Amino acid sequence: MVMQLNLGDHVSPEPGYTAIPAGYRPDAQWARTRARAIARGMPSADAYFRTLPNARSLTQLLADNTIWINYSATIGGYGETNAVGGKEIAIGSVAFRYGRWTVLATLIHELAHSNGAPGGASKAAEQALVACGLGKRGELNSGVDDPRTPFDPNISG
Ligand SMILES: [Zn+2]
Repeated sequence: MVMQLNLGDHVSPEPGYTAIPAGYRPDAQWARTRARAIARGMPSADAYFRTLPNARSLTQLLADNTIWINYSATIGGYGETNAVGGKEIAIGSVAFRYGRWTVLATLIHELAHSNGAPGGASKAAEQALVACGLGKRGELNSGVDDPRTPFDPNISG
C-alpha cells in the first residue's frame, strides 16, 4: 500500500483539488520516492511524526493508500490539507514552479497536518522538515532562515 498521487484516477471531494498535470508528475513521483527514502534512512523522521497529535509515523502515512496527493492551481500557498487530520492534500503550482525540493518539503509539511499538526501560529508542521533532514537544527534554534534548505523557521501554520 502506498500514499496515492492523483494522476487522473481520483475525484477529490475538495473543490479545486485536481489531478497532477502531466508535466509535474515526475517531480511529484520523485518527492514521494524521496520521502520514503527519508522514512527508511532517517529515524528522526518517524520519531518526530510520532510526537504529532495523531501519532502516526512518516512510514505509516506514506503507506496509507487513503491519503491522496492532488494538485491545485488556485491555492495561494505551497500546499494545503483539507483539514487537520485530513487525507486530501493539494500541492500548489507555486511549489511545482520552485522545483522538486519544494514539492518534497510541501509534501512533508502537509503530511504533518494529516497527522494532526495544527495550523495557526503552530510551527509543528514546518518543523517536520528539520526531522527529515530538509532543514538545520541551527535554523530552528536561531529562527534565522538558511535559504539553502527548504525549511523556513518563520513559516507557521
Ligand atoms: Zn501548514
